[in-house]
Amino acid sequence: MALICDFRVVGPVQTNCYFLYDEKTKKGVLVDPGDEAEKLLSYIGKKGLQIEAILLTHGHFDHIMAVPELKKELGVPVYVSRVEKEVLEDPMTNLSLQMGGRGICLEADHYLEDGDTITLLGEEVRCILTPGHTVGGMCYYFPKAGILFSGDTLFQESVGRTDFPGGSMKELIRSIREKLFVLASATRVYPGHGFSTSIETEKMFNPFATDGF
Ligand SMILES: [Zn+2]
Repeated sequence: MALICDFRVVGPVQTNCYFLYDEKTKKGVLVDPGDEAEKLLSYIGKKGLQIEAILLTHGHFDHIMAVPELKKELGVPVYVSRVEKEVLEDPMTNLSLQMGGRGICLEADHYLEDGDTITLLGEEVRCILTPGHTVGGMCYYFPKAGILFSGDTLFQESVGRTDFPGGSMKELIRSIREKLFVLASATRVYPGHGFSTSIETEKMFNPFATDGF
């Protein structure tokens, strides 16, 4: 069984929305449908995907704006970390009021704890809480496929901003070093913005990985 990871860039701040799906069964999950629901639905239709779940790495507007429409169309459950519940529900904290053009208040179907394991696409998915960019940022690790969705925690040779409500650079660096850099080094990292990378590359080249920070 081969899982394919594809993406579309959506919205005003170029957010990566990922489609992870089984080539054969066409079953898939959607990560961070941040905007442009039409575009995402058209991709799903064209590929004939059967989406089973929506995973949210965190509650910021640019990762969630298309959720209401997609949930209505697809009727699938939404997962987010429990700690992020308040961000999802508060249009000020999720920045939708200031930056998204309309205030959005979302409820998820499943609130995850750090270390939870969920089964999706026949794989065990490990939920890794990585506070720092927001209070409840959650990374999703598919160990069998060797894939990590890192949200706005870890970027290619960079890290997420920490100047939004609930942000902390100290926490973010700790999350990355203690919880992400311990994963298998060949793991492909798919971030919320920009290019994909690997744990190995980030351990070598990410300026925030060194002891200076
Ligand atoms: Zn964010």
